[in-house]
Amino acid sequence: MTSKTEVDELLKKCVQCGSCILTCPIYRATLNESFSPRGKLYYLKLKDAYPEKFDDELAKEYSKTIFTCAVCGRCVEICTSEVKLTDIFREERKASVNDFPKLVQIGENISDEMNVYGLDNEMRAETWTMELYDDFPDIDDRIYSDGMTGDTILFVGCLMSFRNRHVNVLKSILKVMEHLDENFIILGGEEYCCGHPLDLLGKEEEADKLREHNTEVIHKAKTTTIVTDCPGCLEALIDHHKIDPSVKILHMTEYFDEKIESVPNKLNIKLKYHDPCELFRNSEVTTAPRSLLKKMGVEVIEMEPSCCGGGGMLRVTDEGIAQEIMDQRIEKENLEKEDTCVITCCPSCLEQYEQSGVTTWDITEYLVKALNLEEDK
Ligand code: SF4
Ligand code: SF4
Repeated sequence: MTSKTEVDELLKKCVQCGSCILTCPIYRATLNESFSPRGKLYYLKLKDAYPEKFDDELAKEYSKTIFTCAVCGRCVEICTSEVKLTDIFREERKASVNDFPKLVQIGENISDEMNVYGLDNEMRAETWTMELYDDFPDIDDRIYSDGMTGDTILFVGCLMSFRNRHVNVLKSILKVMEHLDENFIILGGEEYCCGHPLDLLGKEEEADKLREHNTEVIHKAKTTTIVTDCPGCLEALIDHHKIDPSVKILHMTEYFDEKIESVPNKLNIKLKYHDPCELFRNSEVTTAPRSLLKKMGVEVIEMEPSCCGGGGMLRVTDEGIAQEIMDQRIEKENLEKEDTCVITCCPSCLEQYEQSGVTTWDITEYLVKALNLEEDK
């Protein structure tokens, strides 16, 4: 959590050089400096220096800019004055969140039902495991109940638990984990939202309550490793849960890259790899996905490590700008004209590409092909 004093200290570091402007996908999409990282800080400086001039109209403008951000971290990466802008934005969102009814609803969904969709949390595993009984008849035996233990926990996350697109990704993950003979469990209804969406709304205290529950269950299950495919969950598990440091917390690609030395069926294909911002900038996971892809016989075509427009709740606060960011990416990377698919390892990025008509796969969906597991079960 960033305190008001810390925000003030960070603000003082900003020399207003403007280096962060052109790198910001929001600025590129809007060409409006008020929405750029430096523009957002201007509002804040004005609020602090001249509170009497910061009337309701300015406050509303500020609140709009602070939520028009994909929290991609590119501004932080480029800032040589070490202004942690995303920390400031997260803290500042706390005061403005009530201006956005859809965000308020998401916050209530999580507080009431422990997931972003406000659905009965017991459905967390039911929705997708029902589609897997043919392939995994014993899947229920892997769903946690009190007293159960497992070496590894597959932390599924809200998006993958409730949205149909990801059933195939989960199926692929399960096939690979069973192939590796892993002793793993899924928390089902005992998995609560990791709190990452609440962090993006500036509601860290509420997020911490969910994390206390997850941490307790993880410790009770005597787990040594937690794996997740969702970069937001990964960040929340590593940075915000108070999990015993002896427990390894890994992204799916790190886990599989560690476990798999070689594959029987080299794919010999070229794919464009999208670095999910939260995985790449926040958790610094860049080597493992590329290493795994190389082992699979996939030649990675690099793209600019830029945002897909799907982060920071931007799809909820301004779908038009989120789409413009993706449209610019499609054009810059020639994704419409070229016949090459995109591969990634984040459920949110995957959906953002697919919703824009770009054929996109999770790495694990190809990994099952490389391991000859597609028709195994
Ligand atoms: S790059 Fe850093 S110092 Fe320069 S304007 Fe942006 S936040 Fe301020
Ligand atoms: S985090 Fe990303 S979207 Fe937000 S202001 Fe910085 S560069 Fe722009």
